[in-house]
Amino acid sequence: MSTEHDAEIALLQVLLDASLDAAIRIDSSGLIQGWNQQAESLFGWPRVEVMGRAFYDVVLPQRYRARLISAFARAQTPTLSSVRLETAGLHRLGHELAIELTLTMIKTNRAVEYCAFFRDLSVRHQMERDLLLAQSSFESVEGMLILDADLSILKVNVAFSGITGYSATEAIGKKSSIIRLNQPDLRAFWEIKNRSPADMFWRGEVQDRRKNGETYPVKLSVMAVANESGHVSHFVLAFVDLSESRQSEDRLHRLSFYDALTELPNRMLMLDRLQQALISSERNQSHGAVLLIDLDDFKNLNDAMEHKIGDQMLIQVTQRLKGCLYTTDTLARLGGDEFVVILEELDAQSSIAAEKAEIVANRIIETFSEPFDLKGHSHPASAGIGICLFKGLAVEPSALVTRAETAMHHAKEVKYNAIRFFDAATQATLQTRFTLTEWMRQGLPQQFALHYQIQTSSQGVPFGAEALIRWQHPEQGHISPALFIPLAEETGLIIQIGAWVLRRACEQLVLWSHRSAMQHLTLSVNVSPKQFHQSDFVQQVIDALEQTGANPARLELELTEGMMVRDVNAVIEKMLILKRHGVRFSLDDFGTGYSSLSYLKRFPIDQLKIDQSFVQSVLDDPHDAAIVRAVITLGQSLGMAVIAEGVESSAQCDFLRANGCKEFQGYLFGRPLAVAAFEALVEQKEPIFLSALALD
Ligand code: C2E
Ligand code: MG
Ligand code: MG
Repeated sequence: MSTEHDAEIALLQVLLDASLDAAIRIDSSGLIQGWNQQAESLFGWPRVEVMGRAFYDVVLPQRYRARLISAFARAQTPTLSSVRLETAGLHRLGHELAIELTLTMIKTNRAVEYCAFFRDLSVRHQMERDLLLAQSSFESVEGMLILDADLSILKVNVAFSGITGYSATEAIGKKSSIIRLNQPDLRAFWEIKNRSPADMFWRGEVQDRRKNGETYPVKLSVMAVANESGHVSHFVLAFVDLSESRQSEDRLHRLSFYDALTELPNRMLMLDRLQQALISSERNQSHGAVLLIDLDDFKNLNDAMEHKIGDQMLIQVTQRLKGCLYTTDTLARLGGDEFVVILEELDAQSSIAAEKAEIVANRIIETFSEPFDLKGHSHPASAGIGICLFKGLAVEPSALVTRAETAMHHAKEVKYNAIRFFDAATQATLQTRFTLTEWMRQGLPQQFALHYQIQTSSQGVPFGAEALIRWQHPEQGHISPALFIPLAEETGLIIQIGAWVLRRACEQLVLWSHRSAMQHLTLSVNVSPKQFHQSDFVQQVIDALEQTGANPARLELELTEGMMVRDVNAVIEKMLILKRHGVRFSLDDFGTGYSSLSYLKRFPIDQLKIDQSFVQSVLDDPHDAAIVRAVITLGQSLGMAVIAEGVESSAQCDFLRANGCKEFQGYLFGRPLAVAAFEALVEQKEPIFLSALALD
């Protein structure tokens, strides 16, 4: 019996030793009775050390023991011969191993035993992971295909089908269209017989054709795969469809070079085309022309109607302009309602070229004469056109456009629908303006000074002065403010000039405050529109007053009507803040602007200043006399003081006084004077002008 049992056990041990898996024999109380070679190498324990020990303790991590006990229980079920599970084993060194465990119950004639077979899963898991990785990288966003050595398709991925339109079934077994591509170096690549390592790879851009016939750009890389003997067995192809990125490049290109509304070239592209035109004009010695077209009153239309209507108008204008041009001419939109036309190869002779350009300009004006249909509204249009001829590379493209722009502004000065050429005289003006601006910039503030013109009551008593800027250029001598102030206003330099004037005036007020004859004087300072509309203008005035210590009640700011038409509430707000500080306001050149009398009373104005043009013709022109009378009455009824400026003769003065004017300024009383001369004039006991007031 015992021998029989021993024989059975011996047989079992032989089987165990022969097993390719790690195998352990366990008795019914879970103690290890057999341990083969593979178990030694899998778990790291030599057989002698584990024999008779508890099976769970040796080969299983603590956390899996419960699972194993229930597996044991299942293995005892009579209907089941074995139980298989994937679990973790425990190595002698403490790390876990991925294993597959098969537990088999063995009944010997003496007892029940178990055989546990362990298979190391880590290698299998690694292979599975590799496979998954390979598969997922094959299923990338790139189209991929694998060809055999004869260039037949073995495998394609999903992206391949998405890009080409061919399903895997349609593709596999066929020759890829990519192979037939007529790309000489790619064709040569397939043909290479003995490949060096450098010949294993090809990369480039090709045009492929989709199933639907559409061709599209492709970035393709091909890798030849060689087997152990060095022969190419496969080709792996990966490709990217470039058509979308091309489209977005195109879109980007369009956005940066074309106007979104009209789809015309924008300024940047136009300048580039103009540069090309200049180069070819240089080559063929022929004149071309730049036409700058600006719609009249477009701003009004845009303000009055919804913007969509304005857009509609611009689109229709574009259509009509195109109708006036050859397709080879360049039409561009500079922005707003400004368009540019570039005409090339007009003529070698400038007069003929000018004539031809004018014909096109006239055609454009004519095409606008037909009213535009804007959502049922019929809208008439007109334009001003400036033309600048060019020949060769003498003038920069942007300078040419500026010239055409200058000519356009001249056209606009005249009337609607005017055409003007840029000429040398215009250029000279432009040059002067440019030079003047530069001089101004350099000369500020050393070459500038304030002069003061006296303001008196009807009794001849001085009560104030107007500060007037003077510019003494070292070479050019005196330059009139009537010339440089408007230019400074345009260029924005007025901001610096204005700030300087304000500070100088405040400093002067402080100096006068220490002199008894002068301390009662108010000082009027001219404020330009751009200066006044600065967001921090109020603060600038307050700062100038506080930093110099001038008395705000002595400062009067001269505004003009033009400043009071836009942002009315903001203007009033600014004036009110300054008024609260004690600053006074005078309305300069009154009568020349367009302000509506009805809202004049909304502004906190202390003084109206009758413009000198009315004063000077008050005796000759009954209309001007009527205006002067009306202004005086208006001032009186609104509770504002009225001052007449530009009073040159006692006759003018008499008329004004007779009509109730109480304040005067003009050459009759004194010219604008440098500060010392002005102070001397005020301090005179018997002012020279008293004779003019003898009638009192
Ligand atoms: P405005 O403010 O109307 O100044 C009056 C102008 O008339 C001054 O010319 C003055 O010299 C001149 N004038 C005064 N009395 C008589 C007269 O009896 N007869 C004649 N024919 N003219 C007289 P000015 O100094 O050449 O200034 C011209 C304009 O320049 C000023 O007109 C003003 O608008 C501007 N301006 C002058 N100084 C400044 C300044 O500091 N800042 C700003 N923003 N503008 C200034
Ligand atoms: Mg003034
Ligand atoms: Mg004035």
